[in-house]
Amino acid sequence: MNAHVQEALNEIAKESGAVVPCETCGNNYIRAHDGDAESKAYAMATNAWKDGNFRSASREEILAAMKDVIIDANNECPSCG
Ligand SMILES: [Zn+2]
Repeated sequence: MNAHVQEALNEIAKESGAVVPCETCGNNYIRAHDGDAESKAYAMATNAWKDGNFRSASREEILAAMKDVIIDANNECPSCG
């Protein structure tokens, strides 16, 4: 997955609320564990793919990469624990 796609998926994770800023320091993003937000992230990734934003990858690859972004997110803030 190229860096451009990775960056776009990171933004989608933030916009959808699948990852949220740490409430204490605000410096790090952590996984919200919000099923609705995660569903929204996959829908946004699918729509971006349909819009032709990720021409280098298949829809399946984009959704797998979106999943990686979400499950790789920190469960706790690395700074605040
Ligand atoms: Zn923090």
